[in-house]
Amino acid sequence: MVVGEITQETELAVIGGGPGGYTAALRAAQLGIKTTLIDARPLPGGVCLHEGCIPSKALLHAAEVVNTAKSAGKYGLYFGAPKIELTELRKWKEEVTNKLAMGIVSLCKSSRVETIIGTAVFQDSKTLRIEHPGEASVSLKFKHAIVASGSRPLTLNKLFKKPEDMKSERILDSASALALDAVPSSLLVVGGGYIGLEMGTVYAALGSDVTVVEMTDGLLPGVDRDLVKPLANHLATTFKAIYLNTTVVSLEDIGDGIVCVFEGKDAPSQAKFERVLIAVGRRPNGDALGLENTQVAQDEYGFIKIDQSCRTTDRRIFAIGDVSGQPMLAHRAMRQGHVVAEIIAGRKSSFDNRAIPAIVFTEPEVAWCGLTEGEAKEKGMTVGVAKFPWSASGRALTLAEAVGQTKILYDLETTRVLGLALVGARAGELIAEAALAMEAGVVLEDLVATIHPHPTLSETIPEAAMVAINRLERQRQGQSPKEPSLR
Ligand code: NAD
Repeated sequence: MVVGEITQETELAVIGGGPGGYTAALRAAQLGIKTTLIDARPLPGGVCLHEGCIPSKALLHAAEVVNTAKSAGKYGLYFGAPKIELTELRKWKEEVTNKLAMGIVSLCKSSRVETIIGTAVFQDSKTLRIEHPGEASVSLKFKHAIVASGSRPLTLNKLFKKPEDMKSERILDSASALALDAVPSSLLVVGGGYIGLEMGTVYAALGSDVTVVEMTDGLLPGVDRDLVKPLANHLATTFKAIYLNTTVVSLEDIGDGIVCVFEGKDAPSQAKFERVLIAVGRRPNGDALGLENTQVAQDEYGFIKIDQSCRTTDRRIFAIGDVSGQPMLAHRAMRQGHVVAEIIAGRKSSFDNRAIPAIVFTEPEVAWCGLTEGEAKEKGMTVGVAKFPWSASGRALTLAEAVGQTKILYDLETTRVLGLALVGARAGELIAEAALAMEAGVVLEDLVATIHPHPTLSETIPEAAMVAINRLERQRQGQSPKEPSLR
Protein backbone atom coordinates (compact mmCIF):
# COMPACT_ATOMS: atom_id res chain seq x y z
CA MET A 1 0.00 0.00 0.00
CA VAL A 2 1.33 3.41 -1.02
CA VAL A 3 1.34 6.10 1.70
CA GLY A 4 -1.80 8.21 1.33
CA GLU A 5 -3.54 5.55 -0.69
CA ILE A 6 -5.94 2.88 0.50
CA THR A 7 -6.58 -0.18 -1.63
CA GLN A 8 -10.07 -1.66 -1.52
CA GLU A 9 -12.01 -4.28 -3.44
CA THR A 10 -15.65 -4.45 -4.39
CA GLU A 11 -17.85 -6.48 -6.69
CA LEU A 12 -19.68 -3.45 -8.10
CA ALA A 13 -18.50 0.14 -8.19
CA VAL A 14 -21.20 2.67 -9.04
CA ILE A 15 -19.93 6.09 -10.09
CA GLY A 16 -22.53 8.75 -9.37
CA GLY A 17 -25.15 8.86 -6.65
CA GLY A 18 -28.02 10.32 -8.67
CA PRO A 19 -31.30 8.51 -9.35
CA GLY A 20 -29.63 6.04 -11.75
CA GLY A 21 -26.65 5.36 -9.50
CA TYR A 22 -28.44 4.97 -6.18
CA THR A 23 -31.19 2.83 -7.74
CA ALA A 24 -28.56 0.53 -9.26
CA ALA A 25 -26.55 0.37 -6.02
CA LEU A 26 -29.54 -0.40 -3.81
CA ARG A 27 -30.95 -3.06 -6.16
CA ALA A 28 -27.52 -4.69 -6.55
CA ALA A 29 -27.04 -4.78 -2.78
CA GLN A 30 -30.53 -6.25 -2.34
CA LEU A 31 -29.47 -8.98 -4.77
CA GLY A 32 -26.46 -9.80 -2.60
CA ILE A 33 -23.73 -7.97 -4.54
CA LYS A 34 -21.00 -6.18 -2.59
CA THR A 35 -21.57 -2.64 -3.82
CA THR A 36 -19.70 0.65 -3.47
CA LEU A 37 -21.38 3.93 -4.40
CA ILE A 38 -19.06 6.85 -5.16
CA ASP A 39 -20.12 10.49 -5.44
CA ALA A 40 -18.24 13.75 -5.03
CA ARG A 41 -21.18 15.34 -3.21
CA PRO A 42 -21.41 14.88 0.55
CA LEU A 43 -24.98 13.60 0.19
CA PRO A 44 -26.37 11.26 -2.49
CA GLY A 45 -29.17 12.26 -4.85
CA GLY A 46 -27.28 13.87 -7.71
CA VAL A 47 -28.45 16.84 -9.76
CA CYS A 48 -32.05 15.59 -9.67
CA LEU A 49 -32.31 15.86 -5.91
CA HIS A 50 -29.97 18.74 -5.14
CA GLU A 51 -30.31 21.10 -8.09
CA GLY A 52 -32.86 19.69 -10.49
CA CYS A 53 -36.16 17.80 -10.41
CA ILE A 54 -36.97 17.99 -6.71
CA PRO A 55 -36.10 21.59 -5.80
CA SER A 56 -37.64 22.82 -9.05
CA LYS A 57 -40.86 20.98 -8.31
CA ALA A 58 -40.93 22.44 -4.80
CA LEU A 59 -40.61 25.94 -6.25
CA LEU A 60 -43.14 25.17 -8.97
CA HIS A 61 -45.57 24.15 -6.24
CA ALA A 62 -45.02 27.53 -4.58
CA ALA A 63 -45.59 29.21 -7.96
CA GLU A 64 -48.82 27.27 -8.43
CA VAL A 65 -50.11 28.42 -5.05
CA VAL A 66 -49.39 32.05 -5.95
CA ASN A 67 -51.00 31.69 -9.37
CA THR A 68 -54.04 29.80 -8.07
CA ALA A 69 -54.67 32.51 -5.48
CA LYS A 70 -54.25 35.19 -8.15
CA SER A 71 -56.76 33.58 -10.50
CA ALA A 72 -59.33 32.59 -7.85
CA GLY A 73 -61.21 35.84 -8.49
CA LYS A 74 -62.87 34.11 -11.44
CA TYR A 75 -64.95 32.13 -8.94
CA GLY A 76 -65.36 34.87 -6.38
CA LEU A 77 -62.36 34.35 -4.10
CA TYR A 78 -60.08 37.33 -3.73
CA PHE A 79 -56.67 37.23 -2.05
CA GLY A 80 -54.22 40.02 -1.50
CA ALA A 81 -50.74 40.07 -3.04
CA PRO A 82 -48.57 37.33 -1.54
CA LYS A 83 -45.85 38.20 0.95
CA ILE A 84 -42.88 36.19 -0.23
CA GLU A 85 -40.20 35.42 2.34
CA LEU A 86 -37.35 34.01 0.26
CA THR A 87 -35.41 32.73 3.27
CA GLU A 88 -38.36 30.64 4.41
CA LEU A 89 -39.11 29.40 0.91
CA ARG A 90 -35.47 28.36 0.47
CA LYS A 91 -35.47 26.69 3.90
CA TRP A 92 -38.56 24.66 3.04
CA LYS A 93 -37.07 23.61 -0.33
CA GLU A 94 -33.84 22.56 1.44
CA GLU A 95 -35.79 20.62 4.06
CA VAL A 96 -37.46 18.66 1.26
CA THR A 97 -34.17 17.81 -0.46
CA ASN A 98 -32.35 17.02 2.81
CA LYS A 99 -35.11 14.72 3.96
CA LEU A 100 -34.93 12.79 0.71
CA ALA A 101 -31.11 12.70 0.75
CA MET A 102 -31.10 11.36 4.32
CA GLY A 103 -33.59 8.73 3.19
CA ILE A 104 -31.12 7.52 0.54
CA VAL A 105 -28.28 7.56 3.11
CA SER A 106 -30.29 5.38 5.46
CA LEU A 107 -31.34 3.03 2.65
CA CYS A 108 -27.67 2.65 1.67
CA LYS A 109 -26.82 1.83 5.29
CA SER A 110 -29.61 -0.68 5.74
CA SER A 111 -28.82 -2.31 2.37
CA ARG A 112 -25.08 -2.38 3.18
CA VAL A 113 -24.07 -0.23 0.22
CA GLU A 114 -20.67 1.22 1.04
CA THR A 115 -20.50 4.91 0.15
CA ILE A 116 -17.35 6.86 -0.67
CA ILE A 117 -17.29 10.63 -1.07
CA GLY A 118 -14.86 11.56 -3.82
CA THR A 119 -14.15 11.86 -7.53
CA ALA A 120 -13.57 8.58 -9.35
CA VAL A 121 -11.28 8.17 -12.36
CA PHE A 122 -10.68 4.88 -14.19
CA GLN A 123 -7.07 3.72 -14.03
CA ASP A 124 -7.90 0.70 -16.19
CA SER A 125 -10.86 -1.61 -16.79
CA LYS A 126 -10.66 -3.05 -13.27
CA THR A 127 -9.51 -0.16 -11.10
CA LEU A 128 -10.79 3.25 -10.04
CA ARG A 129 -8.82 5.91 -8.25
CA ILE A 130 -10.99 7.97 -5.93
CA GLU A 131 -9.76 11.37 -4.73
CA HIS A 132 -11.21 13.47 -1.96
CA PRO A 133 -9.41 16.65 -0.91
CA GLY A 134 -7.64 16.24 2.43
CA GLU A 135 -8.08 12.48 2.54
CA ALA A 136 -6.10 9.48 1.39
CA SER A 137 -7.03 8.45 -2.13
CA VAL A 138 -8.67 5.09 -2.64
CA SER A 139 -7.63 2.57 -5.26
CA LEU A 140 -10.77 0.54 -5.78
CA LYS A 141 -10.58 -2.79 -7.60
CA PHE A 142 -13.92 -3.83 -9.03
CA LYS A 143 -15.48 -6.73 -10.90
CA HIS A 144 -18.08 -4.53 -12.54
CA ALA A 145 -18.61 -0.78 -12.71
CA ILE A 146 -21.63 1.33 -13.58
CA VAL A 147 -21.01 4.85 -14.84
CA ALA A 148 -23.91 7.05 -13.74
CA SER A 149 -22.10 10.36 -13.80
CA GLY A 150 -24.98 12.41 -15.22
CA SER A 151 -24.78 15.65 -17.16
CA ARG A 152 -24.16 19.34 -16.72
CA PRO A 153 -25.61 22.47 -18.33
CA LEU A 154 -24.33 23.63 -21.71
CA THR A 155 -22.85 27.09 -21.53
CA LEU A 156 -22.79 29.97 -24.00
CA ASN A 157 -19.29 31.10 -23.02
CA LYS A 158 -18.43 32.26 -26.51
CA LEU A 159 -21.10 34.96 -26.30
CA PHE A 160 -19.53 36.89 -23.43
CA LYS A 161 -17.85 40.12 -24.46
CA LYS A 162 -15.60 39.93 -21.39
CA PRO A 163 -14.51 36.43 -20.27
CA GLU A 164 -14.84 37.38 -16.58
CA ASP A 165 -18.58 37.94 -17.11
CA MET A 166 -19.04 34.17 -17.47
CA LYS A 167 -18.67 34.04 -13.68
CA SER A 168 -20.96 37.02 -13.04
CA GLU A 169 -23.54 36.35 -10.33
CA ARG A 170 -26.09 37.80 -12.75
CA ILE A 171 -25.59 34.78 -15.04
CA LEU A 172 -27.57 31.78 -13.84
CA ASP A 173 -27.71 28.14 -14.81
CA SER A 174 -30.33 25.66 -13.61
CA ALA A 175 -28.44 25.11 -10.33
CA SER A 176 -27.91 28.74 -9.38
CA ALA A 177 -31.44 29.63 -10.51
CA LEU A 178 -32.75 27.05 -8.03
CA ALA A 179 -30.58 28.45 -5.25
CA LEU A 180 -33.03 31.39 -5.37
CA ASP A 181 -30.78 33.94 -3.71
CA ALA A 182 -32.88 36.81 -5.09
CA VAL A 183 -35.89 37.54 -7.25
CA PRO A 184 -34.61 39.79 -10.05
CA SER A 185 -36.92 42.49 -11.35
CA SER A 186 -36.13 41.30 -14.88
CA LEU A 187 -34.95 37.87 -16.00
CA LEU A 188 -33.95 36.78 -19.47
CA VAL A 189 -34.27 33.06 -20.06
CA VAL A 190 -32.20 31.81 -22.98
CA GLY A 191 -33.82 28.59 -24.21
CA GLY A 192 -37.53 27.77 -24.34
CA GLY A 193 -37.13 24.12 -23.31
CA TYR A 194 -37.93 22.21 -20.11
CA ILE A 195 -35.71 24.19 -17.76
CA GLY A 196 -36.34 27.61 -19.29
CA LEU A 197 -40.11 27.30 -19.09
CA GLU A 198 -40.20 25.66 -15.65
CA MET A 199 -37.83 28.18 -14.06
CA GLY A 200 -39.44 31.05 -15.99
CA THR A 201 -42.78 29.98 -14.45
CA VAL A 202 -41.24 30.05 -10.95
CA TYR A 203 -39.62 33.47 -11.30
CA ALA A 204 -42.68 35.01 -13.00
CA ALA A 205 -44.87 33.85 -10.08
CA LEU A 206 -42.39 35.30 -7.58
CA GLY A 207 -42.54 38.67 -9.33
CA SER A 208 -39.86 38.81 -12.05
CA ASP A 209 -40.57 40.16 -15.52
CA VAL A 210 -39.56 37.11 -17.53
CA THR A 211 -38.45 37.26 -21.17
CA VAL A 212 -37.71 34.06 -23.10
CA VAL A 213 -35.60 33.80 -26.23
CA GLU A 214 -35.85 30.58 -28.18
CA MET A 215 -33.83 29.97 -31.32
CA THR A 216 -36.37 27.67 -33.02
CA ASP A 217 -39.84 28.68 -34.23
CA GLY A 218 -41.67 27.40 -31.15
CA LEU A 219 -41.38 26.62 -27.46
CA LEU A 220 -40.49 23.04 -26.48
CA PRO A 221 -39.13 21.98 -29.87
CA GLY A 222 -39.98 18.37 -30.68
CA VAL A 223 -43.23 18.39 -28.69
CA ASP A 224 -46.49 18.28 -30.72
CA ARG A 225 -47.66 21.82 -31.45
CA ASP A 226 -51.27 21.23 -30.34
CA LEU A 227 -49.92 20.34 -26.88
CA VAL A 228 -47.63 23.36 -26.72
CA LYS A 229 -50.29 25.84 -27.89
CA PRO A 230 -52.32 26.08 -24.64
CA LEU A 231 -49.07 26.46 -22.69
CA ALA A 232 -47.71 29.10 -25.08
CA ASN A 233 -51.02 30.99 -24.86
CA HIS A 234 -50.83 30.96 -21.07
CA LEU A 235 -47.17 31.95 -20.94
CA ALA A 236 -47.92 34.86 -23.26
CA THR A 237 -50.01 36.26 -20.37
CA THR A 238 -47.55 35.53 -17.54
CA PHE A 239 -44.20 36.25 -19.24
CA LYS A 240 -43.26 39.74 -20.35
CA ALA A 241 -42.14 38.58 -23.79
CA ILE A 242 -41.33 35.44 -25.75
CA TYR A 243 -39.08 35.88 -28.77
CA LEU A 244 -39.01 32.91 -31.14
CA ASN A 245 -36.53 32.39 -33.99
CA THR A 246 -34.19 34.50 -31.90
CA THR A 247 -30.63 34.00 -30.74
CA VAL A 248 -28.48 35.89 -28.30
CA VAL A 249 -25.47 37.33 -30.08
CA SER A 250 -23.61 38.74 -27.10
CA LEU A 251 -23.82 39.19 -23.34
CA GLU A 252 -22.09 41.84 -21.25
CA ASP A 253 -22.23 42.66 -17.54
CA ILE A 254 -22.31 46.44 -17.30
CA GLY A 255 -22.49 46.58 -13.51
CA ASP A 256 -26.20 47.10 -12.98
CA GLY A 257 -27.34 44.40 -15.38
CA ILE A 258 -26.53 42.23 -18.35
CA VAL A 259 -26.86 43.74 -21.79
CA CYS A 260 -27.97 41.17 -24.36
CA VAL A 261 -27.76 41.71 -28.08
CA PHE A 262 -30.38 39.71 -29.97
CA GLU A 263 -30.77 38.54 -33.53
CA GLY A 264 -34.38 37.82 -34.43
CA LYS A 265 -37.27 39.31 -36.36
CA ASP A 266 -39.45 40.30 -33.41
CA ALA A 267 -36.81 40.87 -30.74
CA PRO A 268 -35.33 44.27 -29.94
CA SER A 269 -31.73 44.68 -31.10
CA GLN A 270 -30.63 44.74 -27.45
CA ALA A 271 -32.01 44.93 -23.91
CA LYS A 272 -30.76 44.98 -20.32
CA PHE A 273 -31.76 42.37 -17.73
CA GLU A 274 -30.99 42.10 -14.04
CA ARG A 275 -30.22 38.40 -14.48
CA VAL A 276 -29.91 35.92 -17.33
CA LEU A 277 -30.68 32.21 -17.05
CA ILE A 278 -28.98 30.04 -19.63
CA ALA A 279 -31.00 26.88 -20.27
CA VAL A 280 -29.93 25.68 -23.71
CA GLY A 281 -29.54 21.98 -22.97
CA ARG A 282 -27.18 19.70 -21.09
CA ARG A 283 -24.05 17.71 -21.96
CA PRO A 284 -22.92 14.32 -20.62
CA ASN A 285 -20.33 14.09 -17.84
CA GLY A 286 -18.13 11.63 -19.66
CA ASP A 287 -15.01 13.68 -20.12
CA ALA A 288 -13.17 13.49 -16.78
CA LEU A 289 -13.66 9.83 -15.96
CA GLY A 290 -10.44 8.42 -17.41
CA LEU A 291 -12.44 6.49 -20.00
CA GLU A 292 -9.38 6.59 -22.25
CA ASN A 293 -7.85 4.07 -19.83
CA THR A 294 -10.66 1.60 -20.59
CA GLN A 295 -12.32 0.19 -23.71
CA VAL A 296 -15.41 2.38 -23.21
CA ALA A 297 -16.41 4.23 -26.39
CA GLN A 298 -18.26 7.54 -26.64
CA ASP A 299 -20.23 9.04 -29.50
CA GLU A 300 -19.56 12.40 -31.16
CA TYR A 301 -21.56 14.21 -28.43
CA GLY A 302 -19.67 12.54 -25.58
CA PHE A 303 -22.45 10.08 -24.65
CA ILE A 304 -21.15 6.66 -23.65
CA LYS A 305 -22.19 4.03 -26.18
CA ILE A 306 -24.28 1.23 -24.69
CA ASP A 307 -26.26 -1.80 -25.85
CA GLN A 308 -29.74 -2.95 -24.69
CA SER A 309 -28.19 -4.22 -21.47
CA CYS A 310 -26.62 -0.76 -20.90
CA ARG A 311 -23.26 -2.48 -21.31
CA THR A 312 -20.49 -0.33 -22.78
CA THR A 313 -17.87 -1.52 -25.24
CA ASP A 314 -15.84 -2.57 -22.17
CA ARG A 315 -17.59 -5.74 -20.94
CA ARG A 316 -17.11 -5.05 -17.23
CA ILE A 317 -18.42 -1.51 -17.44
CA PHE A 318 -22.02 -0.37 -17.82
CA ALA A 319 -23.39 3.15 -18.27
CA ILE A 320 -26.81 4.49 -17.32
CA GLY A 321 -28.67 7.80 -17.19
CA ASP A 322 -27.76 11.12 -18.81
CA VAL A 323 -24.18 10.06 -19.59
CA SER A 324 -25.56 7.22 -21.74
CA GLY A 325 -27.83 9.22 -24.05
CA GLN A 326 -31.22 10.83 -24.50
CA PRO A 327 -33.72 11.41 -23.11
CA MET A 328 -31.94 12.84 -20.10
CA LEU A 329 -34.66 11.96 -17.63
CA ALA A 330 -34.28 10.63 -14.09
CA HIS A 331 -36.87 7.87 -14.53
CA ARG A 332 -35.00 6.48 -17.55
CA ALA A 333 -31.84 6.35 -15.45
CA MET A 334 -33.68 4.61 -12.59
CA ARG A 335 -35.08 1.91 -14.87
CA GLN A 336 -31.64 1.39 -16.42
CA GLY A 337 -30.10 1.15 -12.94
CA HIS A 338 -32.58 -1.53 -11.95
CA VAL A 339 -31.94 -3.49 -15.15
CA VAL A 340 -28.15 -3.36 -14.87
CA ALA A 341 -28.15 -4.45 -11.21
CA GLU A 342 -30.21 -7.49 -12.21
CA ILE A 343 -27.95 -8.33 -15.16
CA ILE A 344 -24.85 -8.14 -12.94
CA ALA A 345 -26.61 -10.41 -10.44
CA GLY A 346 -27.02 -12.96 -13.25
CA ARG A 347 -30.71 -12.35 -13.84
CA LYS A 348 -32.34 -11.96 -17.25
CA SER A 349 -33.14 -8.32 -17.77
CA SER A 350 -33.02 -5.76 -20.55
CA PHE A 351 -33.65 -2.06 -21.03
CA ASP A 352 -36.30 -2.73 -23.62
CA ASN A 353 -39.04 -0.38 -22.50
CA ARG A 354 -41.47 0.63 -25.21
CA ALA A 355 -41.97 4.15 -23.95
CA ILE A 356 -40.42 6.71 -21.63
CA PRO A 357 -42.90 9.30 -20.37
CA ALA A 358 -41.90 12.96 -20.38
CA ILE A 359 -43.41 15.84 -18.44
CA VAL A 360 -42.90 19.58 -18.51
CA PHE A 361 -44.11 20.85 -15.13
CA THR A 362 -45.44 24.18 -16.29
CA GLU A 363 -48.94 25.63 -15.94
CA PRO A 364 -50.59 23.87 -17.71
CA GLU A 365 -48.41 20.78 -17.58
CA VAL A 366 -47.49 18.97 -20.78
CA ALA A 367 -46.93 15.21 -20.72
CA TRP A 368 -46.48 12.61 -23.41
CA CYS A 369 -45.52 8.97 -23.78
CA GLY A 370 -44.84 6.73 -26.76
CA LEU A 371 -45.33 7.85 -30.35
CA THR A 372 -45.95 11.55 -30.96
CA GLU A 373 -47.71 13.05 -33.98
CA GLY A 374 -44.44 14.66 -35.00
CA GLU A 375 -42.60 11.34 -34.97
CA ALA A 376 -45.43 9.60 -36.83
CA LYS A 377 -45.25 12.25 -39.57
CA GLU A 378 -41.46 12.03 -39.73
CA LYS A 379 -41.62 8.25 -40.11
CA GLY A 380 -44.43 8.45 -42.69
CA MET A 381 -46.67 6.29 -40.50
CA THR A 382 -50.42 6.16 -41.00
CA VAL A 383 -51.99 6.16 -37.56
CA GLY A 384 -55.27 7.23 -35.98
CA VAL A 385 -55.40 10.33 -33.78
CA ALA A 386 -58.24 11.08 -31.37
CA LYS A 387 -58.54 14.04 -29.04
CA PHE A 388 -60.76 14.84 -26.09
CA PRO A 389 -60.98 18.49 -25.01
CA TRP A 390 -60.88 19.20 -21.28
CA SER A 391 -63.62 21.79 -21.71
CA ALA A 392 -65.90 18.73 -21.66
CA SER A 393 -64.36 17.26 -18.48
CA GLY A 394 -66.40 17.75 -15.33
CA ARG A 395 -63.33 17.52 -13.13
CA ALA A 396 -61.39 20.05 -15.19
CA LEU A 397 -64.30 22.49 -14.89
CA THR A 398 -64.56 22.03 -11.11
CA LEU A 399 -60.86 22.83 -10.86
CA ALA A 400 -61.40 25.94 -12.98
CA GLU A 401 -58.78 24.39 -15.26
CA ALA A 402 -60.73 23.71 -18.44
CA VAL A 403 -57.72 24.40 -20.64
CA GLY A 404 -56.35 21.11 -21.86
CA GLN A 405 -56.72 18.08 -24.04
CA THR A 406 -56.00 14.39 -24.06
CA LYS A 407 -54.77 12.84 -27.28
CA ILE A 408 -54.34 9.21 -28.30
CA LEU A 409 -52.43 7.84 -31.26
CA TYR A 410 -53.47 4.33 -32.24
CA ASP A 411 -52.93 1.63 -34.81
CA LEU A 412 -55.79 1.74 -37.33
CA GLU A 413 -55.91 -2.04 -37.81
CA THR A 414 -55.42 -3.37 -34.29
CA THR A 415 -56.48 -0.23 -32.31
CA ARG A 416 -53.37 -0.70 -30.20
CA VAL A 417 -52.41 2.46 -28.31
CA LEU A 418 -49.18 3.83 -29.79
CA GLY A 419 -48.91 7.11 -27.97
CA LEU A 420 -50.75 9.23 -25.45
CA ALA A 421 -50.29 12.88 -24.61
CA LEU A 422 -51.97 15.42 -22.39
CA VAL A 423 -51.81 19.11 -21.76
CA GLY A 424 -53.58 20.49 -18.73
CA ALA A 425 -53.44 20.69 -14.95
CA ARG A 426 -51.76 17.64 -13.37
CA ALA A 427 -51.11 16.06 -16.78
CA GLY A 428 -47.89 14.74 -15.28
CA GLU A 429 -49.79 12.68 -12.73
CA LEU A 430 -51.93 11.13 -15.48
CA ILE A 431 -49.22 10.03 -17.90
CA ALA A 432 -48.23 6.94 -15.89
CA GLU A 433 -51.37 5.22 -17.19
CA ALA A 434 -50.08 5.79 -20.71
CA ALA A 435 -46.73 4.22 -19.83
CA LEU A 436 -48.50 1.12 -18.45
CA ALA A 437 -50.77 1.01 -21.52
CA MET A 438 -47.78 1.07 -23.82
CA GLU A 439 -45.83 -1.58 -21.90
CA ALA A 440 -48.89 -3.85 -21.69
CA GLY A 441 -49.76 -3.32 -25.36
CA VAL A 442 -53.34 -2.30 -24.61
CA VAL A 443 -55.92 -1.48 -27.27
CA LEU A 444 -58.45 1.38 -27.26
CA GLU A 445 -61.17 -0.99 -26.03
CA ASP A 446 -59.09 -1.83 -22.92
CA LEU A 447 -58.94 1.83 -21.96
CA VAL A 448 -62.71 2.16 -22.35
CA ALA A 449 -63.40 -1.08 -20.47
CA THR A 450 -61.26 0.02 -17.53
CA ILE A 451 -63.38 1.84 -14.96
CA HIS A 452 -61.84 5.25 -14.35
CA PRO A 453 -63.02 7.02 -11.19
CA HIS A 454 -65.49 9.86 -11.59
CA PRO A 455 -65.05 12.78 -11.46
CA THR A 456 -61.33 12.78 -12.29
CA LEU A 457 -59.13 14.07 -15.07
CA SER A 458 -58.18 10.44 -15.74
CA GLU A 459 -61.58 9.97 -17.40
CA THR A 460 -60.35 12.04 -20.32
CA ILE A 461 -58.22 9.02 -21.35
CA PRO A 462 -61.11 6.58 -22.00
CA GLU A 463 -63.08 9.52 -23.41
CA ALA A 464 -60.36 10.11 -26.02
CA ALA A 465 -60.32 6.36 -26.71
CA MET A 466 -64.10 6.48 -27.18
CA VAL A 467 -63.76 9.30 -29.73
CA ALA A 468 -61.51 6.96 -31.72
CA ILE A 469 -63.76 3.92 -31.32
CA ASN A 470 -66.88 5.86 -32.40
CA ARG A 471 -65.05 7.08 -35.45
CA LEU A 472 -63.85 3.58 -36.36
CA GLU A 473 -67.39 2.21 -35.89
CA ARG A 474 -68.91 4.91 -38.10
CA GLN A 475 -66.31 4.08 -40.67
CA ARG A 476 -67.15 0.38 -40.52
CA GLN A 477 -70.83 1.22 -40.95
CA GLY A 478 -69.91 3.20 -44.03
CA GLN A 479 -70.97 6.51 -42.46
CA SER A 480 -67.53 7.95 -42.40
CA PRO A 481 -65.66 6.84 -45.50
CA LYS A 482 -62.34 8.22 -44.53
CA GLU A 483 -60.57 7.81 -41.21
CA PRO A 484 -59.13 11.24 -40.39
CA SER A 485 -55.78 9.71 -39.79
CA LEU A 486 -52.36 11.13 -39.79
CA ARG A 487 -49.95 10.59 -42.61
P1 NAD B 1 -33.92 21.56 -23.62
O1 NAD B 1 -33.23 20.79 -24.67
O2 NAD B 1 -35.20 21.08 -23.07
O3 NAD B 1 -34.20 23.05 -24.14
C1 NAD B 1 -33.19 23.88 -24.62
C2 NAD B 1 -33.85 24.92 -25.50
O4 NAD B 1 -32.89 25.91 -25.79
C3 NAD B 1 -34.34 24.37 -26.82
O5 NAD B 1 -35.64 24.82 -27.03
C4 NAD B 1 -33.36 24.95 -27.84
O6 NAD B 1 -33.93 25.16 -29.10
C5 NAD B 1 -32.99 26.25 -27.16
N1 NAD B 1 -31.69 26.79 -27.51
C6 NAD B 1 -30.52 26.14 -27.66
N2 NAD B 1 -29.51 27.01 -27.92
C7 NAD B 1 -30.07 28.24 -27.92
C8 NAD B 1 -29.57 29.56 -28.11
N3 NAD B 1 -28.27 29.77 -28.33
N4 NAD B 1 -30.43 30.61 -28.05
C9 NAD B 1 -31.75 30.39 -27.81
N5 NAD B 1 -32.29 29.17 -27.62
C10 NAD B 1 -31.46 28.11 -27.66
O7 NAD B 1 -32.81 21.79 -22.49
P2 NAD B 1 -32.94 22.32 -21.01
O8 NAD B 1 -34.20 23.07 -20.81
O9 NAD B 1 -31.65 22.98 -20.72
O10 NAD B 1 -33.03 20.98 -20.19
C11 NAD B 1 -32.00 20.01 -20.33
C12 NAD B 1 -32.54 18.62 -20.14
O11 NAD B 1 -32.84 18.44 -18.78
C13 NAD B 1 -33.83 18.36 -20.90
O12 NAD B 1 -33.60 17.90 -22.20
C14 NAD B 1 -34.46 17.31 -20.05
O13 NAD B 1 -34.02 16.06 -20.49
C15 NAD B 1 -33.95 17.58 -18.66
N6 NAD B 1 -34.98 18.22 -17.83
C16 NAD B 1 -36.13 17.56 -17.62
C17 NAD B 1 -37.11 18.15 -16.85
C18 NAD B 1 -38.39 17.40 -16.60
O14 NAD B 1 -38.39 16.20 -16.79
N7 NAD B 1 -39.46 18.07 -16.26
C19 NAD B 1 -36.94 19.41 -16.32
C20 NAD B 1 -35.74 20.06 -16.57
C21 NAD B 1 -34.76 19.45 -17.33
